[in-house]
Amino acid sequence: MKKTPSNVCPVCKIQALDVSVKEKSGKALQYKCARCGEFRISNSLQPWIEEKNLGPKLSGWIRNLSELGMEIPDINMSILKEIEQSIPDYNPSDKQYLFLRHISQKSKYPGDIVSIHPRFDYPLAWASAPEELFFYIRFLVERGLLISIDDRKEILAGGNKPVAVAISPSGWEYLDKYEQRAIELSQAYVAMSFSNSMNIAWERAIKPAINDAGYKACRVNSKQHSDKINAKIIAEIKNSLFVVAEVTEQQRVVYFEAGYAIGRNLPVIWCVRKDDLKNVHFDTRQYNHVVWETTDELKEKLYDVICAVVGRRKKI
Ligand SMILES: [Zn+2]
Repeated sequence: MKKTPSNVCPVCKIQALDVSVKEKSGKALQYKCARCGEFRISNSLQPWIEEKNLGPKLSGWIRNLSELGMEIPDINMSILKEIEQSIPDYNPSDKQYLFLRHISQKSKYPGDIVSIHPRFDYPLAWASAPEELFFYIRFLVERGLLISIDDRKEILAGGNKPVAVAISPSGWEYLDKYEQRAIELSQAYVAMSFSNSMNIAWERAIKPAINDAGYKACRVNSKQHSDKINAKIIAEIKNSLFVVAEVTEQQRVVYFEAGYAIGRNLPVIWCVRKDDLKNVHFDTRQYNHVVWETTDELKEKLYDVICAVVGRRKKI
């Protein structure tokens, strides 16, 4: 039987049973890929992705959003260009760290066993193929940072079965140290609407909460209703230790900035005003979030979450 384009994931090229196409809206098709996650894309963008060899980065980007329960992304040309320009070419050491960090997020407690299927899960390490992920798993085991629960032969063979791994005590220590490197940074980036009512929340609650926790709050105005994040925003997020994403009024650019921060592995603290909670695109049961009604409440709760998630700094 001849394959139609919809049988193949346009990003990672996995075929048939692992891809389902849910709906058609205009020219864009919605894909659910066992490897990348869910996304919408127009087939006309496919040659561009191939030409730029953007598949692995795009797959890693979609999968990381999907793991965090974010809104299903609509991939268009401006998003592709942002991904091409702003997602770094991670080196093998970064990829091992990002993968280990992912296992730590999946671990319910230290020593918990996490199942990884290299055929489907290699985007979690921003890798290009299952073999690359196997290489990192083997290397992490060799470095004593990861414990392989399966027969070691399974991992050495690089087979087509899930492998069970757990982070070792040295692995937890390594994660702590790696994250310590960021400690000298004192800036928090705030992604939020610039409307008048939200400016009051910024002045009375967000800025003082961040300052009280010992950090410098920074926000950059970008054009509203834009998919794009500009160079200034990218630079400020790179200089930040964590990000506060205040999503009230549901502007796409706020989600995009938060997505970029997630791609850079920064902690993101989500906030939303209670009357807008029903519209949010993240899973409030799962992530660090603040739901507020008054600016006093926002200030107090945000301060507490910053101290819990990032820790309090002594001085600015
Ligand atoms: Zn895919």
